[in-house]
Amino acid sequence: MKTMTTPRMFGLALLCTASLGAAMPAPAISATASAKPRLTEPKLTISEVEGQGPAVALTFDACMGKVDDRILSTLIDNRIPSTIFVTARWLKHNAAAFAVMRANPDLFEIEDHGENHVPAIDVPMTVFGIKTAGSPEDVAAEVEGGAAAIMAAGGERPIWFRGATAKYTPSAIAEIQSLGYRVAGYSINGDSGSLLGASGVARQYHRAKDGDVIISHINQPTHEAGEGVVKGILDLKARGFRFVRLKDRTEPLSTKSF
Ligand SMILES: [Zn+2]
Repeated sequence: MKTMTTPRMFGLALLCTASLGAAMPAPAISATASAKPRLTEPKLTISEVEGQGPAVALTFDACMGKVDDRILSTLIDNRIPSTIFVTARWLKHNAAAFAVMRANPDLFEIEDHGENHVPAIDVPMTVFGIKTAGSPEDVAAEVEGGAAAIMAAGGERPIWFRGATAKYTPSAIAEIQSLGYRVAGYSINGDSGSLLGASGVARQYHRAKDGDVIISHINQPTHEAGEGVVKGILDLKARGFRFVRLKDRTEPLSTKSF
């Protein structure tokens, strides 16, 4: 039976796990250290976008795998700007898609999703069965390795970072900021790690209000979720929403967490 679920109820239980091919473990989070560290999932919204009508920021993670041409072509055909978080792993296998994004600099802002898609958490533990970076040094390597790959591929130096699973310790967030990056949260979980069905994704997009930052995935071309993303984007456009990129925004990141 299907039930309506809000992103907050969903939390990030399914974020990015599809991309990693990881099964949902129980419990989802386990620490190898004796004390379980507190993890946060920063919320990000945009505010006071100039002009008429509601505005949202579409953000897409390209964790690994391929590109979802359904989403990419919808964004291009409708001239809709978005922010794409790419990993070095994804870049390695998707040069053609990256070239398409770079050929449309007015549409695509390229930001940092890390080097190897390991959670940017500075203590050794697992999140959704995935080993974290595990130390401050390894968090820095994940963040800076992703940025270096973007620049080596011809992109601009990224200014935003979003780690795999989008969970962090407060100390990792402080470290990432000290490296010169803003940590990209979100306010609507559009596709639950690309695992939601098409109608579920479309419903999540339909919930968006002025100022929301939507996260979903652009690296799962075989998933039904991508069909829902396309429907959701076109629905927002038809309802008069405007689309902005993160780099065009300067307001501070909300410290409120999910
Ligand atoms: Zn990811």
